[in-house]
Amino acid sequence: MPNPKTSPKILPYGRQTIEDDDIQAVVDVLKSERLTQGDRVGLFEAALAEYCGAPYAVACSSGTAALHLAYLAAGLGPKDAILSSPISFLATANAAASVGAIPVFADIDPDSGNIDPNKIEAILTNRLAQDPKIKAIVPVHFAGFPCDMKAIVSIANKHNLMVIEDGCHALGSEAEGRKIGSISDLTVFSFHPVKLITTGEGGAVVTKDKALYERLQQFRTHGVVRDHFAHKADGPWYYEMQALGFNYRMSDIHAALGLSQLKKIKRFVEARRAIARRYDAAFQNHPLFEIPLEKGNTYSAYHLYPIRLKDSLVAQKANLFERLKEKGILVQTHYIPIYLQPYYRNLGYPKGLCPLAEDFYARELSLPIYPSMRMEDVDRVIETLNALVKKG
Ligand SMILES: *Cc1c(COP(=O)(O)O)cnc(C)c1O
Repeated sequence: MPNPKTSPKILPYGRQTIEDDDIQAVVDVLKSERLTQGDRVGLFEAALAEYCGAPYAVACSSGTAALHLAYLAAGLGPKDAILSSPISFLATANAAASVGAIPVFADIDPDSGNIDPNKIEAILTNRLAQDPKIKAIVPVHFAGFPCDMKAIVSIANKHNLMVIEDGCHALGSEAEGRKIGSISDLTVFSFHPVKLITTGEGGAVVTKDKALYERLQQFRTHGVVRDHFAHKADGPWYYEMQALGFNYRMSDIHAALGLSQLKKIKRFVEARRAIARRYDAAFQNHPLFEIPLEKGNTYSAYHLYPIRLKDSLVAQKANLFERLKEKGILVQTHYIPIYLQPYYRNLGYPKGLCPLAEDFYARELSLPIYPSMRMEDVDRVIETLNALVKKG
């Protein structure tokens, strides 16, 4: 057993912030008549849509389910493709594969880890007639730093493609003064405990489009529709399944937590940003690290604080990771480029496909950042990291 007096306090790279009123909100639902399909999901959806500046939100059981629903609502299927970033969580590509679509990967901007619009344009221009048709661009706002949405939306318009944003890191982020969620056709969020707010497990898709909204709802509940029947209703009990859907519903227990958490998003993001400013001050112009920067007119929710190791440190990354762990600092690497996973390699995706993403993976370390993290803990991370790299 570790001795709590001598072993260091564990600092994970991210964690939830749960307060008494969050707990009470969940208890209230547990004491109520309806644990699912009550009023909390609708209230959470309305609050989320308003926060994002979009008319509609559909809450569901995870960010992965949200991606799956978004791809289904967009009409993606076999013989289609999406164009996305290899620097993301597996689900961005996997959910496309789940509907039979092919994930195509464009390389990143090495400063941000975000998909590079020039690489998107190059892939679209060099596409052959027999290749699966790219129907959507799926930008991922890595760590909370918005992608270049102006360029991406303009490319999408030029090539007549949909834009489906993976905003799982970016609830509260802004690009050109607009909240992520208000910009493109569909935006996906996750409420896993490490994300900006949590519902335990949970996710949502936000959209401006009423037809997409109705399709998202339909696929969330078994492909069943409540009106617009194809056949005449047999009676008042009648319902109709018009497509193959799932049970991806969020329960009212989860939605109550989400509703309570969403009220705190401004404070949570500001707390993350204060921690980021402390890391920035310690590591800017550092001989061994590069820090993440907000580019142009953007505002990051800082889901992560990703530093990149400069050349002389890259070979020591695994060692640094282990030494930090011994000191109770649980850094993480985001991400192994998706196509390097055995599943994708076996499908023929080659190593070297996106060299900048592979180089980013070799350098990236995500330092602890979460709203309840104390400044003395931030300082401990800074001091420990500096001491370890000095020793070499
Ligand atoms: C967390 C995450 C997901 C998946 O969300 P879950 O709620 O864990 O299913 C998808 N994409 C990105 C970028 C994520 O960070």
